[in-house]
Amino acid sequence: NPINPYTGRFAPSPSGPLHAGSLVAAMASYLDAKAHRGLWLLRIEDIDETRTVPGAIAAIMQALAIFGMQHDGEVLVQSQRKDVYQAAFDRLAGHVYPCGCTRKEISDSRLGIAPDGAAIYPGTCRDGLNAGKVSRTLRVRVPDIGQEDESITFNDRWLGPQTQHLATEVGDFVLKRADGYWAYQLAVVVDDAEQGVTHIVRGTDLLESTARQIYLQHMLGLATPSYMHVPVVLNEVGEKLSKQTGAQALDLAHPLNELLHAARFLELQSGRANSIESFWQGAIAEWAHRFGAQ
Ligand code: GLU
Repeated sequence: NPINPYTGRFAPSPSGPLHAGSLVAAMASYLDAKAHRGLWLLRIEDIDETRTVPGAIAAIMQALAIFGMQHDGEVLVQSQRKDVYQAAFDRLAGHVYPCGCTRKEISDSRLGIAPDGAAIYPGTCRDGLNAGKVSRTLRVRVPDIGQEDESITFNDRWLGPQTQHLATEVGDFVLKRADGYWAYQLAVVVDDAEQGVTHIVRGTDLLESTARQIYLQHMLGLATPSYMHVPVVLNEVGEKLSKQTGAQALDLAHPLNELLHAARFLELQSGRANSIESFWQGAIAEWAHRFGAQ
């Protein structure tokens, strides 16, 4: 991969068409890439095939085209890359182990809830599967308390300095799931590195995953990109928009309206645009000014 000074990406999961929330994440990553005169790549994150909705990939790509958001390079599709994730996993030998615990057993240990809603893993199977247990998941060890890289810190370009303590806030985490699929955390790290991504711009719903991803980058000897987590659109009851929470489909007959709406959410002023082209022109200039890009 030739190293581009700026490579960004949009990485939707095809669990439904683009909605107002995913348009905001797409817009922020696109604006940041364009403001830096960088590349903007597209990756389809369909590694969790249980959530893939037929037709969603085509619908997302069509919507991006209607919004005038053209991606660079080839589209990477995670479901086609299982051997690459296996190879990365193999490089973690000695740091990974099989775990036989069920979700219920883990939550019964009452260590608390990790920020993403999963129960904190108490390390039950760290030194071998408990007698009679069969392997369900494969987990990676996080540093023990007192170890040097115990806390992961990074400087978020939107939110400022962030710290997460993996041992007490997350615990050893799953890289291969009980249903046999590779975990998002592993796939995203492998793919961001392979695509040469230097700047990740995505919603704050993924903020709590970032420390795990940085940790895996360290373990795999991969560079850590810079991160920016932008606000996510919530519905009336404060849930992240998704198909499950009843997100409305975008009105592709009036794309400029949808763009202006998403732009307001990102606190952009570019409200007077009367075409998609002039919208992007103004928004890119504004973003460049705001985030100090040349
Ligand atoms: N596929 C994830 C999602 O749709 C985004 C992952 C990422 O940007 O790192 O929520």
